[in-house]
Amino acid sequence: MKTKKSEKLYQQGLEHLVGAVNSPVRAFASVGGNPLFIDKAKGSKITDVDANEYIDLVLSYGPMILGHRHKKVQKAITKATKKGYSFGASTKDEIKLAKIVCDAFPGMDKVRFVNSGTEAVLSAVRLARAYTSKSKIIKFSGCYHGHMDALLVAAGSGLATLSLPGSKGVPDEAVKNTLIAEYNNLDSVQKHIDENKDIAAVILEPVGGNMGVVIPQDDFLVKLKELCNANGILLIADEVMTGFRSKFGGAQELFNVEADITCLGKVIGGGFPVGAYGARNEIMEMVAPLGGMYQAGTLSGNPIAMASGIATLSELKKQDPYANFNVVAEKIKSSLLKSGKKYNVDLVVNRFGSMINPFFTKDEVTDFSSAQKSDTDKFGVFFWEMIKNGVFLPPSQFEAWFLSSALSESDIEKIEKAIDASIKKVSEM
Ligand SMILES: *Cc1c(COP(=O)(O)O)cnc(C)c1O
Repeated sequence: MKTKKSEKLYQQGLEHLVGAVNSPVRAFASVGGNPLFIDKAKGSKITDVDANEYIDLVLSYGPMILGHRHKKVQKAITKATKKGYSFGASTKDEIKLAKIVCDAFPGMDKVRFVNSGTEAVLSAVRLARAYTSKSKIIKFSGCYHGHMDALLVAAGSGLATLSLPGSKGVPDEAVKNTLIAEYNNLDSVQKHIDENKDIAAVILEPVGGNMGVVIPQDDFLVKLKELCNANGILLIADEVMTGFRSKFGGAQELFNVEADITCLGKVIGGGFPVGAYGARNEIMEMVAPLGGMYQAGTLSGNPIAMASGIATLSELKKQDPYANFNVVAEKIKSSLLKSGKKYNVDLVVNRFGSMINPFFTKDEVTDFSSAQKSDTDKFGVFFWEMIKNGVFLPPSQFEAWFLSSALSESDIEKIEKAIDASIKKVSEM
């Protein structure tokens, strides 16, 4: 496999970009080797600067659910660019996307668009504090909620990949109101509630995706919501990753819960920077200009991004790929398990809708500490062999793989072959 041009760009990138990347998850630190530089992508495929073509299971960490450059999305954004790029005033498309999003979430009357998942979360936390007049937030180990100070502790995603407990530069005061609980462990939540009066909200990913895929067990979400209700605590569902991923709407609905505040991002922008937070009227009316909780954004509701979001969600609704996602993901899961067995490599596979990944461990993965038992060296070998066999994966054991509706039968066969070859390689370590 040729990587000469990527290597060259990486060296050039190091001069003025930190680690030659603009987000640490794009570094290949935990799999060894240097990042591949991408030239272009179309449909289910992505092509690097050395003209290697891969089936893309990164999908920009989720947003490109229709595959790259879907015709309808391309048409919509091209049309939008002809009208202007940003106005600092309201447009019709903001109303249109707001309706699509609110209609898809039963508990959401109003929504505010922002520019990233991080912004959605930090605004939602501020809103929960404003609404409850309380300060403390419970988060779960291994959940990632973007890079706001208060939630950068025991976080998944890049911090898990780089084995960082938290971030430097976050003052103690910024995390003194953050309480850490364990995923799938209600007792760990109850304990905080018993010991603290001042809890405004519990925030979580309804399905963990940033410690690898971790699924809520045994009515965990339902009971968590009951616990919140009984104690005047708001439940914030961070659906930045899961929103529109496993159904048209939120994963919370699949688990029979309705969060008080929902955070969105990724898919709703279809590849453009869009985040959102929404809730029932009574809560959203706290937000300025209706209420006293302030949050603003120069580029929020950007017209090109709105056009992309509308086209992406409309096409998604039309395609309704979710049943097929389950079939394809289940196929990938069984080929992982089959090859694991064949070559005697211990692994478990967690899957939820179109989010899936293997952990190189033999014990069930139900929380951050069980996820961390994975053998990341094995993942590194697996990762590179997948790359050599034409499948682009996130360069970390602790990131979910995503499916797009652009995957063809032959793509899936190719993925299955790559999996077999890559697990074989792991068995030879
Ligand atoms: C990606 C992600 C975020 C952060 O979104 P950005 O757009 O990267 O700021 C927050 N929460 C979850 C669950 C995510 O997956």
